[in-house]
Amino acid sequence: MKLPLLLLLSFAGCAFAQIVPRQAWCRQPLSPRMPRLAVPVRLIIIHHTASAPCYTPQQCQAALQQIRTGHLLRKFRDIGYNFLIGGDGRIYEGLGFGIRGEHSPHYNSQSIGVAFIGNFQRTLPSPQMLQAARTLITIAVQRRQVLPNYSLVGHCQTKATACPGRQLLDELRKWPRWQPKP
Ligand SMILES: [Zn+2]
Repeated sequence: MKLPLLLLLSFAGCAFAQIVPRQAWCRQPLSPRMPRLAVPVRLIIIHHTASAPCYTPQQCQAALQQIRTGHLLRKFRDIGYNFLIGGDGRIYEGLGFGIRGEHSPHYNSQSIGVAFIGNFQRTLPSPQMLQAARTLITIAVQRRQVLPNYSLVGHCQTKATACPGRQLLDELRKWPRWQPKP
């Protein structure tokens, strides 16, 4: 069993190439005036978008554009999340690393916000989506964007909200760095 684990870890090490860059789905570059995030942060906050699921790169790119448009209408500076996980199993760069998100009031300056595209109150994200999120966390630690002893929480642990959905939260509780408090 040791070899496959090693292979998996080395695979995760190269997985940085798997993050779909922002310019693949968004024509507008990030404003250079976006507030920076002091890294490494101590928190990873998981969200769902509570929007329709997407299953193909085309659908997911359209979903990302809709989410960003919705956030701009709410007067956010840009899309509010640092990263999003598509139903196509890909990791999408939202704000990316090093930029302060707008996803969890009071915690934005201490966290990276990762949103699963879809609604996970009654269904779980696919195994591919869950794996993509775990890969992203590995990358974030490797790139020193997140402390190795980070805390993982769901959005509903920081305020009264259904986000990231009951099923997804139940899954996150089993992950190694999940904490009952942010
Ligand atoms: Zn949320």
